[in-house]
Amino acid sequence: MGLLKIKNLHAAIDGKEILKGIDLEVNAGEVHAIMGPNGAGKSTLSAVLTGRECFEVTEGEVWFNGKNLLELPAEDRAREGIFLSFQYPVEIPGVSTVNFLKTAVNEQRKYKGLPPYPASEFLKMIREKMEMVNIDSRLLNRSLNEGFSGGEKKKNEIFQMAVLEPKLAILDETDSGLDIDALRIVASGVNKLKRPDNSTIVITHYQRLLDYIVPDVVHVLYDGRIVKTAGKELVLELEKYGYDWIKQEVASGK
Ligand code: ADP
Ligand code: MG
Ligand code: MG
Repeated sequence: MGLLKIKNLHAAIDGKEILKGIDLEVNAGEVHAIMGPNGAGKSTLSAVLTGRECFEVTEGEVWFNGKNLLELPAEDRAREGIFLSFQYPVEIPGVSTVNFLKTAVNEQRKYKGLPPYPASEFLKMIREKMEMVNIDSRLLNRSLNEGFSGGEKKKNEIFQMAVLEPKLAILDETDSGLDIDALRIVASGVNKLKRPDNSTIVITHYQRLLDYIVPDVVHVLYDGRIVKTAGKELVLELEKYGYDWIKQEVASGK
């Protein structure tokens, strides 16, 4: 049910208020899209949810799976099952994706009071997930993200999602300049990994991404607030008319 509950969230950077009272509720099993013009605060919202420290929360509450999220350090938010895609993924020379994931999965297990994965079971699980998202083993044995193309980085990210099984994946695709292949990889990953007990928030200003992912709920974020929430038909309206009518509605106080 209510996996994520955001109430009147305000956040600032360098004393400048960016989020001005966000209310949002995401239930388990749902895919939500957050759209909005550049500078609206979309990436700020994902940064605040995952605990990036440059932003100061000045008001409001965030509950995740019954826990007060804002009280948890960023590492624990990840261990609680929040996954944030990176617009610019880090490169880690000398560390393969498989080793990176082994560490991440075992940290998650430790947090839950479970022993580390036995090596053979871990590899079996990795092979299953590889098949599921159709990723090449060569990619997994290379240093993480080093020299990866945009599409390869996205593939890798979707694979990480498949292995870590987050309760909530936040995919912020706004400024990443994804080409159509990379968009398709993200979309098919989100579709394949959709389950009744996990949720996804897809943040984008490209309507195109939503040609491939069908969201259950669509929100428009504008000037630090969610000013509209509707079903997937809202995507078509935005595609047709852009954001200007929403700006006008907000300006006229509707
Ligand atoms: P969006 O993702 O919707 O394009 P952002 O969350 O990136 O919007 O930015 C919202 C506002 O916050 C913009 O006015 C932007 O200039 C400002 N902002 C974002 N990050 C920083 C930062 N690190 N320092 C100062 N201002 C920032
Ligand atoms: Mg931006
Ligand atoms: Mg952004």
